[in-house]
Amino acid sequence: MITKTFKGGVHPPENKKLTDKKKYENLSIPSTIRVPLLQHIGKPAVPVVNIGDIVEEGQLIAKADGFISANIHAPLPGKVTDINLFATHMGRKNTCIVIEVQGNFGHKYNTFFNDWPSLDSAQLLEKVIAAGIVGMGGAAFPTHVKLSPPAEKPVDCLLVNAAECEPFLTVDDNLVKAFPDEIIEGIEITLKILKIRKAVIGIENNKKESFNLLKKTIASKNLSSSISIKMLKTKYPQGSEKQLIQVLTGRVVPSGRLPMDVGVVVQNVGTVFAINEAVIKNKPLYERYITVTGSAVKKPGNYKVKIGTPVSEIIDECGGLIKEPGKVIMGGPMCGLALSSLDIPVVKGTSGILVLTEKETSVGDYCACIRCGRCVQACPVNLLPLEMANAAEFTRFDLTDEMNPLDCIMCGSCAYVCPSGRPINHFIKLAQNHLRNKK
Ligand code: SF4
Ligand code: SF4
Repeated sequence: MITKTFKGGVHPPENKKLTDKKKYENLSIPSTIRVPLLQHIGKPAVPVVNIGDIVEEGQLIAKADGFISANIHAPLPGKVTDINLFATHMGRKNTCIVIEVQGNFGHKYNTFFNDWPSLDSAQLLEKVIAAGIVGMGGAAFPTHVKLSPPAEKPVDCLLVNAAECEPFLTVDDNLVKAFPDEIIEGIEITLKILKIRKAVIGIENNKKESFNLLKKTIASKNLSSSISIKMLKTKYPQGSEKQLIQVLTGRVVPSGRLPMDVGVVVQNVGTVFAINEAVIKNKPLYERYITVTGSAVKKPGNYKVKIGTPVSEIIDECGGLIKEPGKVIMGGPMCGLALSSLDIPVVKGTSGILVLTEKETSVGDYCACIRCGRCVQACPVNLLPLEMANAAEFTRFDLTDEMNPLDCIMCGSCAYVCPSGRPINHFIKLAQNHLRNKK
């Protein structure tokens, strides 16, 4: 049975057929990688290696700077040849550690530690911290922070986001198909860290095979009393945290508050898989699965890649370009970031690379607002996108400051439905930046 849905949202073409049946492949090892020190929300990690050092696969190369930060590890064995500013996914230059590959892989993450139930919550959390895990769905919030709610904010429910509502992306769906046991075990571990007994997985109803697989896995492990799975309507942005919480629990996260304020922690399905690997294999987060897709790339598919691999090498490994790309996007088409350079490396939060043609991305010039109200209907968080965008376009930030721009989740639904082609969310971003800079 499908659960009730949230207000607003849109139904963009799914465009998942290019890759949804493609099983994971490993990409070749790149000769040089560039690992950013800021791949997460919070403070950049601080390097603990120097130029000229030889590093092993999985070795700590930069240490978290404070609580809201994350450790960074070497994705490959090799020599540190530079520590410098380079273009990154953040849209500006950030410090990266450059490693030239040399030496051998130690295969040290092929041994398994299955006695994790003997560890207590703090010991398990320590492994998550050590592994440098961040949210794998794109937000890249350090996972240990979410798993350490303060005593005054007791949590009673873990939600696992397997919705994958962004068009084109199939990475999470394929992760579920490839690793259902590991994902369910990752949820068990996360429950133990949070010291709670209830988890709900949310998955859209266009992924019936994955839904059935997870349901079967839960039953086979006799976990039905603590872990359940709910079918969600296929609608964007179904996987957004606040919408998922409302749909699965009926709880509403107030403006400016966090999921833990209503007793909930949300983790992406890729994140619970990474938690499993950190605990069972002692493996740091230095590689991940991504979808590479779009009409301009020869071999769309789902691939395992090392963090720090330049996007250009990934496209080459996928057979190169078959058409001139109009835009290359890191992430999904609705929430992702258009890349200014193909030298930009994959980071922990990269779920996909879209190589789209001019025709697929052409937005043309935008016109004046005709006050049709479609953006208001589409907004899942009850904002007035037209008013905020119209004010921000003319730098009337005195007006936008009063319109709760920080509640905007940048889902892009408003811009998607706008008949005037207005880049509404880009204008709202200006309003958000203004307010954040003021605080
Ligand atoms: S959808 Fe576009 S044209 Fe319609 S009210 Fe919103 S901003 Fe104006
Ligand atoms: S205003 Fe923000 S939250 Fe509302 S539809 Fe637009 S981008 Fe999404």
